[in-house]
Amino acid sequence: MAEGPLVHYYTKQLKRILWGKDVQIEFRIKTLNEKNPLLKNTHIQDVEAYGKQFRIHLSDGHVLLIHLMMWGSWRIYRKGETWDKPIKQSRVIFRTDSHEVVVFSAPVVKLFKLSELQNNPKWGNLGPDPLRSDFSSKTFFRRLEENPSREIGEALLDQRVIAGVGNILRIEILFRSHIYPRRKVSSLSNREKEKLLYWTLLLFKKWMKQMGKRNDWILIYRRNGKPCPECGTSIQFFRQAGRITYACPNCQK
Ligand SMILES: [Zn+2]
Repeated sequence: MAEGPLVHYYTKQLKRILWGKDVQIEFRIKTLNEKNPLLKNTHIQDVEAYGKQFRIHLSDGHVLLIHLMMWGSWRIYRKGETWDKPIKQSRVIFRTDSHEVVVFSAPVVKLFKLSELQNNPKWGNLGPDPLRSDFSSKTFFRRLEENPSREIGEALLDQRVIAGVGNILRIEILFRSHIYPRRKVSSLSNREKEKLLYWTLLLFKKWMKQMGKRNDWILIYRRNGKPCPECGTSIQFFRQAGRITYACPNCQK
C-alpha cells in the first residue's frame, strides 16, 4: 500500500535514473498515447513525491501525475534485462540510454499543465507533506481545524489536511498520540494536537528509515483481539471512513 514514505522512497530511486535525462516515454494508456505523440521524446526536469503522488516534471511544462493506489508498482530495469511482470500490465514506460523504468497497474496516470494541477480540486491543493522540506505545521493545524466536527481518524486520511497519510499511518499515529479515532477534531486539546504532530513526523521518518526491513514501529495495525503493547487490553477494530481502523479503548482517550 503506497503511503507517503513508500512514495518518497520510490521517488529517490526514480530520480537517480530519470532526473535530467532525455527519455522516450511510451504511454500504454490509449487516451494518453493518442493525445500526446509529441511527448514521446522529452527531458525530465524533476521527479518529486508529494503525499501519495508521483509528479514527473517534463521540459515542456507538463507534469505527469501517477498514483499507485493499492495495486500499482514501479520497476527499474537495465536495458535488455528481462521484465518480471507482463508488458500488458504496464501503464507508462520511460526509456533512457541505459534503463527502462516502468510503472505497472497504476490506476491513475494523468498529464497536467503545472497550473492546471495546482488548481485541480481532486489532485491539486494537497496539505503539507511531512517528508518534504516545505512542510508547515501551521498549515497542517489550520487545515485540520477547518472542519472541527469531523472525526480525527477521518480527517487524517484527507490528503488536503496532510498529504501522505494512509491507513497504517493514521492508526499508528493515533495510537502513539493516545487519541481515540472517533474523537471530534474540535475536542482535541492543544497538547494533544502537538502530540499528534510529533508522532506524525516521527512515524513518517521511521517508516522511511526501515524501508524494506521489519517495520517495528507498527504496533496495533491488524492486531485486533491481541493485547495492547502498552496496557494489555484487547485491540478493537471498526470501520471508519470506509477503512478498517484499530484502536486500544483503554490507552486512546
Ligand atoms: Zn492500551
